[in-house]
Amino acid sequence: MGLAPPSWDERAVLRFRGGEREGLKRLDRYFWQEDRLKTYKETRNGLLGADYSSKFSPWLALGSLSPRYIYEQVQGYEEQRVKNDSTYWLIFELIWRDFFRFMAAKHGDRLFRLSGLQGIEIPWQEDWERCERWQWGKTGYPLVDANMREIGATGFMSNRGRQNVASFLTKNLGINWQIGAEWFESLLVDYDVCSNWGNWNYTAGVGNDARGFRYFNILKQSRDYDPKGEYIKHWLPELGQIPGDKIHEPGKLTLEEQKRYQVILGVDYPRPIVDFSKSLQANEAAYNAAIARSQASATRPRF
Ligand SMILES: Cc1cc2nc3c(=O)[nH]c(=O)nc-3n(C[C@H](O)[C@H](O)[C@H](O)COP(=O)(O)OP(=O)(O)OC[C@H]3O[C@@H](n4cnc5c(N)ncnc54)[C@H](O)[C@@H]3O)c2cc1C
Repeated sequence: MGLAPPSWDERAVLRFRGGEREGLKRLDRYFWQEDRLKTYKETRNGLLGADYSSKFSPWLALGSLSPRYIYEQVQGYEEQRVKNDSTYWLIFELIWRDFFRFMAAKHGDRLFRLSGLQGIEIPWQEDWERCERWQWGKTGYPLVDANMREIGATGFMSNRGRQNVASFLTKNLGINWQIGAEWFESLLVDYDVCSNWGNWNYTAGVGNDARGFRYFNILKQSRDYDPKGEYIKHWLPELGQIPGDKIHEPGKLTLEEQKRYQVILGVDYPRPIVDFSKSLQANEAAYNAAIARSQASATRPRF
């Protein structure tokens, strides 16, 4: 059709190749050749590299790998190698996938509505300047920026990353979650209607399991899941000289440190787009007011 072959980004977690044969190869390698399944539960929250998680999602999303086949293979692995929390956990994750499919079937196009499955009318913002800074990884929060650069360059992002960037967009920036879902839809190599829109509903607090204003503490997540800043430096080479724990909060570097580590804030790397705590407070107040309104209208008698 005269199309140029896709270009590969060498920084990507994996060279995803399409088709059933490639999906089966990936499973064979992850389960049988490299025995990764037995430690899946401990590694699954990783950010860097091919094997912290299965990476089955693109093949599942495109129908090249069947969840039943994976289930059978896990059973075979449990018989021949080991049965433990990790083997259980992979099935558990596939059940999440099923859950979102059933929810989509049950709720139909409510899945795509701004007020979500629960019908909560939150006054979301559409600040395009801030939106673009989120989309292109320029928020001044390294964990968010590294993840957004990864999805932009490769079409993949870890589950831990997805949860953090979605929380930041909705709970700190207070931006219309549909914009985030559409951005993911346009980029993900594993884009799946039910999993994407279902997870975004959940993160935005409008899904059917909304439990109040839940958010991710980005700084803590950064320290917990990327303690040495290896993932951040992989995607944000401009922060490459910053030593130790300072990598997680470049916005706090003194002018002297900025010069020493060759990263001038506002020039080489942005200052934080919002104050973390203040932005949360403001968005939590708006969220709680929306919940109160929706509860009041649900209890008001209708004539
Ligand atoms: C905001 C957001 C958007 C998402 N969008 C998508 C999407 O479009 N397509 C998609 O396949 N997944 C989506 N996910 C779920 C999850 O992030 C990916 O399935 C996972 O990161 C894929 O990597 P993996 O195959 O290595 O996962 P593993 O950890 O190896 O899990 C194995 C399989 O379980 C399923 N699974 C795992 N976690 C979830 C979950 N939270 N929800 C549904 N299924 C899950 C996937 O099919 C995955 O391939 C999204 C999550 C969030 C928070």
